[in-house]
Amino acid sequence: MSSQREENPQRQWSLQDFEIGKPLGKGKFGRVYLAREIKSKYVVALKVLYKEQIEKYRLHHQLRREMEIQTGLRHPNVLRLYGWFHDAERIYLILEYAHGGELYRLLRKTGHLREKQAATYIASLTQALAYCHQKHVIHRDIKPENLLLDHEGRLKIADFGWSVQSSLKRHTMCGTLDYLAPEMVENKAHDYAVDNWTLGVLCYEFLYGIPPFEAENQKDTFRRIIKVDLSFPSIPNVSADAKDLISRLLVKDSSKRLSLQKILEHPWINKNADPTGTCPK
Ligand code: ATP
Ligand code: MG
Repeated sequence: MSSQREENPQRQWSLQDFEIGKPLGKGKFGRVYLAREIKSKYVVALKVLYKEQIEKYRLHHQLRREMEIQTGLRHPNVLRLYGWFHDAERIYLILEYAHGGELYRLLRKTGHLREKQAATYIASLTQALAYCHQKHVIHRDIKPENLLLDHEGRLKIADFGWSVQSSLKRHTMCGTLDYLAPEMVENKAHDYAVDNWTLGVLCYEFLYGIPPFEAENQKDTFRRIIKVDLSFPSIPNVSADAKDLISRLLVKDSSKRLSLQKILEHPWINKNADPTGTCPK
C-alpha cells in the first residue's frame, strides 16, 4: 500500500479496493480472508466482523480500543493493522498477512519445539512486549493461538482484543499524575508483569508441549497457579538454562519476576535465539 494510505488509517477504504481470496480462519465474531489490494497488489488478511454480533455482545468499545491500539504499533513482531472500513452490516480490519499461520498449529504438529526455535520465539515476543510496554500497552491475552508466523517463520503478536493502555498512561495524558496514589503507580509494575509471567508459561509450553499448570479442571489449575506448583518432567530433555529462565519468570511476587531486559540477557536466550528472529520450521 502506498505510504500516504498507510499514514492515514481512516482513509476511505471499501470492499471494492480488494480482491477476496481463500478463508484463513474463523474467529469468535467473524472470519478472516486472504485479500489483495487491487491497485498496489499488496496482499493482506481481511478480518470481517458482523456489526450485529458486536452490538449484541456490546463489544464496540473494546473493538474500537483494539483497533486504535493496534494501528499505533509498529514493530516487526507485532501484526500490523493497516486500517479499517465498514458497510451496512460488517466491519473490515485490514491486517498484515501472516503466511505461516498459527504458532499453535506448529506446536501441536511437532509436540514441542526445539530449544533454538523456542528461544527465538521467546526473544521475539520479549522484544515485542518491551515495545508495547514502552507504549503503555499491556497485551494480557498472549497465548499460542494469538501468535502468528510470517513467511519466514517470524513471530507476530495478533489479537489486541484484551489489551489495555495502563491507567498510569491515561493519568499521564490527562496531566493528573500529581494526585496519583503510590499503589496506583505500584499497580503499573504489577500490570506489566502479567505479560512476563505469560512468557514463562509459554516458554514451558514451547519446550514441553503442555502448559505448566495444566490440570483436570479449572479449580485445580487455579490451585496450581496460586501455589506456583511448577515441576519439570524428565522427558523431553530440556536444558538447565531453559529451566532456569522459566523458574525466574514463574514467580508469585510480580516484582521479583525477571524483567524483559534481563530475559534478553539470559544465557539461554543468548546461546539459542536467532538474532534475525526468523525460524525455519
Ligand atoms: P477475536 O479474539 O478477535 O474474536 P479470534 O481470535 O477468534 O478473534 P483471529 O485470531 O483474529 O480470531 O482470527 C482467527 C484465525 O484466522 C486465526 O487463529 C488465524 O488462524 C487466522 N488469521 C487471523 N488473522 C490472520 C492473519 N493476519 N494472517 C493469517 N491468518 C490469520
Ligand atoms: Mg485469536
